[in-house]
Amino acid sequence: MEARRDERQDTAPTMEEMNARVDQRFRELEEKLTAFTDEERARVREAFRYGRAYHEGQLRKDGSPYITHPLEVAYLVAELGLDADSVMAALLHDTIEDTEATHEEVAHRFGATVADLVEGVTKLTRVKFSSTEEKQMENLRKMLMAMAKDIRVILIKICDRVHNIRTMEFQSEKKQREKALETLEIYAPIAHRLGMQRMKWEMEDQSLKFLDPIAYKEIDDELQAQAQAHAAFMDSIQEQITARLEKEGIRGTVYGRVKHVYSIYRKMFAQNKNMGEIFDLYAFRVIVDDIPTCYNVLGLIHDMYKVVLGRFKDYIATPKPNMYQSIHTTVIGPGGTPFEVQIRTWDMHHMAEYGVAAHWKYKQGLSNKNLGTEETFAWVRRLLENQQDTEAEEYIRNLKVDLFADEVFVFTPNGDVINLPAGATPIDFAYAIHSGVGNAMTGAKVNGRIVGFDYQLKSGEIVEVITSKNAKGPSRDWMKLAKSNQARTKIRQWFKREKREENVATGRAMFEGELKRLGITIAMLTQEHMLPHVLEKVKFSSLEEMYAAIGYGGASAQKCANRAREEVVHQDRQQAERLAAERAAQEAEKAAQYPTVDAGVAKSGNMKHSTSGVIVSGMTECMVKFAKCCTPVPGDEIVGFITRGYGVSVHRADCPNARNGRSRPEERARWIDVSWDAGSLNTYKTAIELIAKDRNGLAVDAATVLAGAKINTLSFNANSLPDGYAKINLVVEVKAQGEVTSLMNKLNQISGVYQVSRVSG
Ligand code: MN
Repeated sequence: MEARRDERQDTAPTMEEMNARVDQRFRELEEKLTAFTDEERARVREAFRYGRAYHEGQLRKDGSPYITHPLEVAYLVAELGLDADSVMAALLHDTIEDTEATHEEVAHRFGATVADLVEGVTKLTRVKFSSTEEKQMENLRKMLMAMAKDIRVILIKICDRVHNIRTMEFQSEKKQREKALETLEIYAPIAHRLGMQRMKWEMEDQSLKFLDPIAYKEIDDELQAQAQAHAAFMDSIQEQITARLEKEGIRGTVYGRVKHVYSIYRKMFAQNKNMGEIFDLYAFRVIVDDIPTCYNVLGLIHDMYKVVLGRFKDYIATPKPNMYQSIHTTVIGPGGTPFEVQIRTWDMHHMAEYGVAAHWKYKQGLSNKNLGTEETFAWVRRLLENQQDTEAEEYIRNLKVDLFADEVFVFTPNGDVINLPAGATPIDFAYAIHSGVGNAMTGAKVNGRIVGFDYQLKSGEIVEVITSKNAKGPSRDWMKLAKSNQARTKIRQWFKREKREENVATGRAMFEGELKRLGITIAMLTQEHMLPHVLEKVKFSSLEEMYAAIGYGGASAQKCANRAREEVVHQDRQQAERLAAERAAQEAEKAAQYPTVDAGVAKSGNMKHSTSGVIVSGMTECMVKFAKCCTPVPGDEIVGFITRGYGVSVHRADCPNARNGRSRPEERARWIDVSWDAGSLNTYKTAIELIAKDRNGLAVDAATVLAGAKINTLSFNANSLPDGYAKINLVVEVKAQGEVTSLMNKLNQISGVYQVSRVSG
């Protein structure tokens, strides 16, 4: 330190002098805190001592003690009128990053809110801006807003930046340009969005100083050279307006200013003009007590000066998206010099100067615990939602996006920002980069650490996708983990293209599952007279096409099954009507020729217990066998079919073979009524099919259920289906339908099982 001082000129202040200045500056800060309670002021003092102690020995580039920086930031924060927590956080804002202080310690001493604010500012400080592309800038702005969570973090960060940019002269030229660009592109627009015109202007002018020093100097020199002329002009206008207001008995404050350097610079640039040609250099403000007076004043101004057409804007009736309210009009003054007049109330004036921060001024003393949280913003939203302005609507939308975090912003390893919906996972990130990256992904890293596919990304994180040429492609689970439509669409496309066979199998299983639920079978659809109608109804050229579409997620199994069922019902009804008419005609013919056989048997009481357990109408002892396709058990509704030479085959009434057969005119006479013999003690075989997500122990679980149900299992076959499904086929021996139903219910409760059904058709 001694060496450093030696290099300086004699006029350089000593460390004692600089420390005395710090003390003096802190007293000035304290004088600003009149709205705080004694206790709050004591906490601020404590935070100052703490920050000063921890930064002890650190110097700024200009040689002053480091604490001067946090102190100035706190001063700006106090000027904005923010609360005690914010002022303390400003004093401590660099402690966690640059000193031994930790979040825990700051939280312990000054409360969790202060510690969180400090940490929030620190996080923003760590974000590195490497891109200069315009489209990235908006994302970066949003990222900062999203990361901040608490609006006070952004406000403190803006004050931090204002002070940094004010004191950049000792930095290297490279650093100056970098910081200036970042300030102009990121922080000034954020300040603008939050309505903080004063800070926005200062940041713009200071940035321009480093980014285009020649132009800055040219404009500044010109303004200086003309300073007297400007002052004279503004004084005369101010006097004229003030005099008129007095005459009309209106209380108001009038003052004029020359527009700020950067806004003149932009106009010169955009309109390719030199400074003499810039249309309006001057802006006057008339600040009055209420809104009706604003319109009165507007009338007076238009009466006093010639109006420039097309320049009138009523931002009172239609506030700007950043809450700015004023009436603007441009008029021609003496000597043909145009100037702008802005008319507003004091409330509007505070809003224009401090933006969102002005809110704290009004809130002070209300002891609101929710300061800076979403609830604070309800106020902003209410204000904006009253407006019909489309710009305002967009602002509300942006505000929600930014501050209520339904988006997340993360970095690629190259520093590009990727914008994803909140809750997004590495899968969304990978597909946002390119579908090829997503399809080849085998893992992901966040901030250098391996994370799972279900990891929820947070704003500011650096995400890296691990890919492999041998990657198997996305899994179907990814569809559930992906939050963005983009990723889901790309995954779906992949399945559509790459996994036709699997899609067909999966789609078929899903479709049949739905059909079961609706109580119909695939065989009912595939009947010759039915299929073309069904396909037309579901709008696919073949069932396979439909399965494939369902399989990759392009069609809904439920919708397809519902449509198919509608068609089956419709066609069946038509068929039944035709058959009924035919049969009625035949029966009428038959009745005329023979007496009824069935009637005779029934009357004679000639029904006995049969060994099969099934009573066949009209036949005493006939051979009965049970159809393999549907394996009926007592309790099922059944029908019989007279086979050629093997007696009667018994089907469930809802077995597709029975339904189809009975509707065929040439077979119809061979289908007969049968019923269960209630006294039978026989057991019956029946087949059950179970579809489940494949997993270890699935078969064991199924076997355990069977054993627990004390049901005799005749066969047990487990098979893997494509894409992680499994099918188990069972043949069990039961006495009645109730046993089957209860067994099926138990099987259904096994984890991963999504369908248990009787086999039929
Ligand atoms: Mn700082």
